[in-house]
Amino acid sequence: MKNLKLTERLGLVSYRNQSKSEIKPHIVVDTDICNSTCPHKCTTWVCPANCYTMDENNQVHFQVEDCIECGTCMYACDQGAVDWNYPDPEIGRGVTWNFG
Ligand code: SF4
Ligand code: SF4
Repeated sequence: MKNLKLTERLGLVSYRNQSKSEIKPHIVVDTDICNSTCPHKCTTWVCPANCYTMDENNQVHFQVEDCIECGTCMYACDQGAVDWNYPDPEIGRGVTWNFG
């Protein structure tokens, strides 16, 4: 198998219920905490899918769409801002794992 860059690998991820518009997100982030009391904003650099970003005004934003369900942010956030629940197979989105 050809060695792919991380961005190329992420582009191959497919999701259950991909075409559904009403998807219940499996991660909800209280960005008020991110943008007020969080001293390190570590999820903006540990998320492999770049779901947490920081803008030019140092404001943290979160978007769940590219999440690969690695679980890193669930452990990395020590500020109580991340509510992480495995997606329901019917109403959640959820990564379709092909290789285990
Ligand atoms: S570590 Fe937690 S509180 Fe800080 S930016 Fe990340 S999600 Fe927000
Ligand atoms: S579970 Fe992983 S990929 Fe998804 S938002 Fe958290 S760190 Fe990013």
